[in-house]
Amino acid sequence: MNTHEVVNQPPPLGDVDLHAHDPVLGRLVDEFDASWAQDRLSEFGRIAGTRETHELAEAANRHEPELRTHDRYGHRIDQVDFHPAWHALMDRAVSHGVHSLGWTEDGPGSQVARTSLMYLDSQVEQGHGCPISMTASVVPSLRMAPELSSVWEPRLLSTSYDPSFRPASEKAGALMGMGMTEKQGGSDVRANTTAAVPAADGHRLTGHKWFTSAPMCDAFLVLAQAPGGLSCFFVPRFLEDGTTNTFRIQRLKNKLGNRSNASSEIEFDETAGWMVGEGGRGVATIIEMVIGTRLDCITGSAALMRQSLTHAAWHVSHRSAFGKTLIDQPAMTNVIADLELETEAATLLMLRVAAMFDRAPHDEREAALRRIATPIAKYWVTKRTTAVVRESMECLGGNGYVEESPLPRWFRESPLNAIWEGSGNVIALDVLRALRREPHALAFLGDEIMLDASAAAIGQLAAAREMLETSENHESDARRIVECLARAWSSSLMARHTAFGELYDAGRITESHAMFGTLPHCDELRDIAGRAVPTLA
Ligand SMILES: Cc1cc2nc3c(=O)[nH]c(=O)nc-3n(C[C@H](O)[C@H](O)[C@H](O)COP(=O)(O)OP(=O)(O)OC[C@H]3O[C@@H](n4cnc5c(N)ncnc54)[C@H](O)[C@@H]3O)c2cc1C
Repeated sequence: MNTHEVVNQPPPLGDVDLHAHDPVLGRLVDEFDASWAQDRLSEFGRIAGTRETHELAEAANRHEPELRTHDRYGHRIDQVDFHPAWHALMDRAVSHGVHSLGWTEDGPGSQVARTSLMYLDSQVEQGHGCPISMTASVVPSLRMAPELSSVWEPRLLSTSYDPSFRPASEKAGALMGMGMTEKQGGSDVRANTTAAVPAADGHRLTGHKWFTSAPMCDAFLVLAQAPGGLSCFFVPRFLEDGTTNTFRIQRLKNKLGNRSNASSEIEFDETAGWMVGEGGRGVATIIEMVIGTRLDCITGSAALMRQSLTHAAWHVSHRSAFGKTLIDQPAMTNVIADLELETEAATLLMLRVAAMFDRAPHDEREAALRRIATPIAKYWVTKRTTAVVRESMECLGGNGYVEESPLPRWFRESPLNAIWEGSGNVIALDVLRALRREPHALAFLGDEIMLDASAAAIGQLAAAREMLETSENHESDARRIVECLARAWSSSLMARHTAFGELYDAGRITESHAMFGTLPHCDELRDIAGRAVPTLA
């Protein structure tokens, strides 16, 4: 008797063309002015979903970055070594312009095109997206220091990845990160104590940063207390004379996920920095970067949903139980269809926000909308992700829970986008702040929702408005308000861009079921579930 016959196990998921597989991406890219980028996205989608990418992702997370604080003679060197798989992923992202396309193609749809690249790039491995996102997002803040920007922008937008530890002037390309969070205050950056003292050339910074990711970047935007108040500083790893700036990497964080990426604690000691933006306006300056990385949090989360679901759908369409392929078992059809609706809604929110980034510079209405839409989508999509990844994992049964599967890695990754770049409460309170500062923004969002509003969406919008008018404690109601707006807006986008608006409403608004797989039964469930199943390239 053959005791080791393997039957009814799904074949390994081979190469998937992530662009062709996506049910909404290509269509929406056309709609949001980026049809010119379709060939580029298509080419990248074929690369981003290969077995090779999965292998690189696995290796980059298994062989974690290592900190070398000193050389063998005792000199401080403050360098981090990464596995070749990390460099391969970085090289691929940079050479395809995942960090730069939004600025190098400065025409209609350029941010939509870049966001779509980021979405494809972030599906299989997320850690390397951190320096990619920060480099892409730093451009508007850096432009507030035109002298620095004229020298550094060409370096940052270069499509050559150069990880060598040398002065940026000698390198083929450069990357940037940011340091805001301190021990005593992350969200409340006003509590920062790092001090910046004016010097003959720039300022000298002394203090610490409790979280600074990707510390091998070539330069950072850093918040510090200057005589005029909290200000934003440009801090390079090397000075103009080719010597190193003082940038002590004290240790690397031992994180739940995101393990391919290094996140560090930094100390500054008379570290040279140059002010960006006006003195005392540090938050207003760096927020231009943060709003970009917030869009990438939405993007990374939508990507995680899509890739987890792709694996779940592959598994259930190749495994049988109780006499049927799992995806044909009605309870499983419902789960996959429900996850597909959630993932499509997240992708629609992501692309609509990206379109606001394109249009905001020329359109006041889109600028006001962007101000509230980015945190609403950041709050909603990043928080929904963990539930989607968890349910996708369960679709694989026990196979989903073992470390040979990528699902545990994606599950560990899944809460992160909701924490950094503003945690949930901070983001919900930011929506309220934006509504106070941009009083028309709610009316603009309301107009957008009303373009394709179901009764359920109208009800959610009305509930948000009523809470805003009558709440006895707006902060206490902040999450309720944001959730109503997110549901109403998602419902309207689903009605406009898919045929599943009503089902979305039933699953998210009119019926109050807590879990996925609770859509009311209808004939469309099979077709919707089918949209999630990948075909091999
Ligand atoms: C892997 C990783 C990498 C990171 N990389 C970087 C980096 O590169 N650069 C950087 O600057 N930072 C980085 N961070 C830090 C991150 O941005 C902060 O952790 C985050 O902003 C929250 O700040 P905090 O940790 O100080 O928590 P706190 O600010 O103490 O917040 C704790 C909780 O309180 C809530 N809260 C805060 N204020 C209020 C309020 N007024 N009302 C109600 N609730 C409130 C928050 O929503 C949160 O849930 C990183 C974090 C992680 C996990």
